[in-house]
Amino acid sequence: MNINTFLDEHLEKINNAGLHRNLRFIEGPQDNKVLIGGIEYINFCSNNYLGLANDSRLKEAATKAINSFGTSTASSRLICGSFNLHKELEEKIAEFKHSESALVFNSGYVANLGIISSLIGKDGLILSDRFNHASIVDAIILSRAQYSRYAHSDMKQLENLLNKHKQIERKLIVTDTVFSMDGDVAKLAEIVSLANKYDATVMVDEAHATGVLGPTGGGLVEELGLSKKIDIQMGTLSKALGSFGAFVCGKPNLIEYFINASRPFIYTTSLPPAVLAASIKAIEIIQNEPQRRDRLWDNIRFMRENLSSSGIDCLESQSAIIAILTRDSELTMEFSRRLFERGIFIQGIRQPTVPKDESRLRLTVTANHRRQDLEQALEAIKATAKELDFI
Ligand SMILES: *Cc1c(COP(=O)(O)O)cnc(C)c1O
Repeated sequence: MNINTFLDEHLEKINNAGLHRNLRFIEGPQDNKVLIGGIEYINFCSNNYLGLANDSRLKEAATKAINSFGTSTASSRLICGSFNLHKELEEKIAEFKHSESALVFNSGYVANLGIISSLIGKDGLILSDRFNHASIVDAIILSRAQYSRYAHSDMKQLENLLNKHKQIERKLIVTDTVFSMDGDVAKLAEIVSLANKYDATVMVDEAHATGVLGPTGGGLVEELGLSKKIDIQMGTLSKALGSFGAFVCGKPNLIEYFINASRPFIYTTSLPPAVLAASIKAIEIIQNEPQRRDRLWDNIRFMRENLSSSGIDCLESQSAIIAILTRDSELTMEFSRRLFERGIFIQGIRQPTVPKDESRLRLTVTANHRRQDLEQALEAIKATAKELDFI
């Protein structure tokens, strides 16, 4: 088939199904408000949980790094692209995550590919929560391992699968710690004890937990005191840290293995100096300013309590991610469109990101939202929900 015929047919199909997606362009920094088409909107879409993406200290650190190291590493890490800044950042991450050592990857997506595909091959087994991030799903396919997805947080099914595949030597259980669509948290203590019982390895993705959960922002692993019991901790620098890139933490032999065997680590140009320096500064700020996390959690509680008391189903969120479940993709997009007209930017999420009957608005709260921003959003959400006969 001619490529253009294929493209046009595909686009027409998703158009007809109302599932076409468009890019929206932001004309200024990510903050509590964003500028779109010259108009300011209160922003509930970013993962900028601690409000660091436009922090003057991160910008200053990035600028300084550009002046000292230039704009590019111009090489992969193993050729000549490892800068002192990589080392400094990796030491900081290891300390922040209470781990022995760390390695930086170019993004969360790439980190998951690099970790999972290099660790488990055809003779191994991967067990993955059905709600895990798409990058984990893709990584599993790339690994060519045998795999099963267990129903979301279903520990009984996880145990059944472990039991059924007892004879397989290399077994990996992988889970998000905060799930990106519902905002709920993994049953990590139970996962760890099942892994011990069946001699499996545990890997966690702390993308949405890093900087948000734990007494020093170290994530769910820190909050539950499981740092010594999790073999592989992955997290991103692109969400609460307001920077870009990702990391994996573990024992030194794990890191040495990835440096030698992980193709998504080896065959790519490494992160530029500005990004490395911004990440280092972000970790310092997170460690020194717990009040940011306190502000974030005040905002989360305020939003959740007010939405729930208006009769809105927010699922079991225990993080900065709050779902407003509509269970209908058209209603979701109409809801989102009307909120946008009222100056509130909340993205609608529908298939294929979530199953059709789990369509929802998904809002994320940050430390930089003012109480007034939240009150304005709540008013708009309630008014729109009434208009649409939703509550
Ligand atoms: C965002 C996210 C990623 C991808 O991270 P990027 O740095 O944006 O590539 C991976 N896993 C989870 C759970 C995420 O939420």
